[in-house]
Amino acid sequence: MPWPPLRDALIGDEPYGAPQIDVPVQLNTNENPYGPSQACADDIAESVRAAALTLNRYPDREATALREGLAEYLNADGGQGLTSANVWAANGSNEIMLQLLQAFGGPGRTALSFAPTYSMYPEYARDSLTEWVSGKRETDFSLDLDAARAKVLEVQPAVVLLPSPNNPTGTALPPEAISMLCEAAGNGVVVIDEAYGEFRREGVPSALEQLPQHRNLVVSRTMSKAFALAGARLGYLAAAPEIVDAVRVVRLPYHLSAVTQAAASAALRHAPELLGKVADLRVERDECVTWLREQGLQVAESDANFVLFGTFTDRHAVWEGLLKHGVLIRETGPDGWLRVSIGTPDEMKQFKNALVAVMEEAR
Ligand code: PMP
Repeated sequence: MPWPPLRDALIGDEPYGAPQIDVPVQLNTNENPYGPSQACADDIAESVRAAALTLNRYPDREATALREGLAEYLNADGGQGLTSANVWAANGSNEIMLQLLQAFGGPGRTALSFAPTYSMYPEYARDSLTEWVSGKRETDFSLDLDAARAKVLEVQPAVVLLPSPNNPTGTALPPEAISMLCEAAGNGVVVIDEAYGEFRREGVPSALEQLPQHRNLVVSRTMSKAFALAGARLGYLAAAPEIVDAVRVVRLPYHLSAVTQAAASAALRHAPELLGKVADLRVERDECVTWLREQGLQVAESDANFVLFGTFTDRHAVWEGLLKHGVLIRETGPDGWLRVSIGTPDEMKQFKNALVAVMEEAR
């Protein structure tokens, strides 16, 4: 046995994560560049202060008040009659999806996605001893529905994991893709990961709208992106109550601290303000797509708060060049592509200036 006695599947694996480098312009982890207001921060602090006086006790294991607030929020964004029984919350949507695989994956079962996609998915599978299978997206990063249906029927996955919009490409799924997947999956669970759902363009419906039609549909959301609350670690899902009950079987007792619950509930009360910058970020994103195309680059259509662009023969050199100009983006996605998160107008200006300089230096 090796030392330390890691199981074989983990040997040589690095911990997941983008480099955390302290540079002036950080456009690498799809955060919201606008922080909470002073009023919101005060409300969070007040709620956490009240919770602090009770920290000798374990928190509400079921996080009921928070789940009620989240259900109400979702009902204003495509959810229909959702209650706390339909909603589950955890420490980021990463934990939500790991819990889903712990409940529905496992030895002898398979999870399926379509690459390129979020690179944490195979890790949830690895960590829950679930077999991982990946189909392919088209060259424009969309899903060929016939090929995807055939893949689902062939693989018979216990869990299908698909982000909409997709990370790192920004591609949203059309509603017919979601219904097709739910039907093809039979008793398998279809998780539509809407971490970036609030950034979708006009006319793109949320998968939440289809929950009444499909008992095997799970919609995952997070407060990390549009909600500008990545530091609080709060993810959640909406699904049929029996799915929520299944996830409750695998959650650790008191997984969501009283501090987290208090902070998230307070932030929810400020939802309109926290989400207020989403419209600006969408405009800035569309502007960024147009600008990158004007530079002669290939750019993926984006419904998210980031843009995938390329292609570069040496993308690492471009990434490094930008870093030298104080701009941190993400080296991810298919070979030759880079991903930039949408920042403030000033940050985007610095990104554009740096990219022009780096591309000129490379000539
Ligand atoms: N899903 C997708 C597609 C993501 O890109 C991310 C964050 N990068 C997550 C889920 C997880 O986010 P969090 O745990 O902060 O909710």
